[in-house]
Amino acid sequence: MEPMTKILSVGLEAGLSQKDLERATTRIIQTLPSSISGDGESSARLLAGLEKNLTDNPMLVAWGLKVAAHASDTVWQKFVDNFVIGVVTERKNAVATTKKDLGYHPPVTLVLNPTMRCNLRCNGCYAYSFNKNSDMDRSLLEKVLTEARELGIQFITITGGEPFLYPDIEGLFENFSDMIFMVYTNAQYIDSDRARRLSRPCPGRYPRPAGPRTELGTGAESGKIVL
Ligand code: SF4
Repeated sequence: MEPMTKILSVGLEAGLSQKDLERATTRIIQTLPSSISGDGESSARLLAGLEKNLTDNPMLVAWGLKVAAHASDTVWQKFVDNFVIGVVTERKNAVATTKKDLGYHPPVTLVLNPTMRCNLRCNGCYAYSFNKNSDMDRSLLEKVLTEARELGIQFITITGGEPFLYPDIEGLFENFSDMIFMVYTNAQYIDSDRARRLSRPCPGRYPRPAGPRTELGTGAESGKIVL
């Protein structure tokens, strides 16, 4: 099956309507070629990644199609910059640099629990047993994200607890707006104001620091992140 036929079939199976698919594919065709560098290598990586995921992980492709179909222009462009370019097409360079400097490949994602507290009490969940004292210290959280960025990890999974109970978590996303955050939330704290703030434009991407990373302060130079 041709990639485009496969993409449409994955989208339909994930519940996208014909109209959604039309909007998603038009948007992808209009945005991606001008967003990806013209050396041909990035486009080839993107295509290879797409074909692999169509077979191995079609839900990831469906997720991309849903974002393309429904996100605002600002959010869509951020998704292209931070995920499609940062994680899919350029990560290979960051991985190679970290491997050369530190001797290992960085993981694709880092899972963080800024808070373990939650407003709900779902059966079987242990979140009820945590209080504010167990929240991650803000400066530690920022330090971990800074070092993740330096190691070439741009895809951050935020879970908990309910992440939106963490004070000003939006400010954290804004301070690291070159990274992509996948947030596991019960969505009960996402009102219109918060949705507006989460979708507003943030500064662009930050260049990855040049040169070997031998001066990280947390022990990453020895192959470990020491907190
Ligand atoms: S919403 Fe999630 S974190 Fe909160 S109680 Fe339910 S399962 Fe636990």
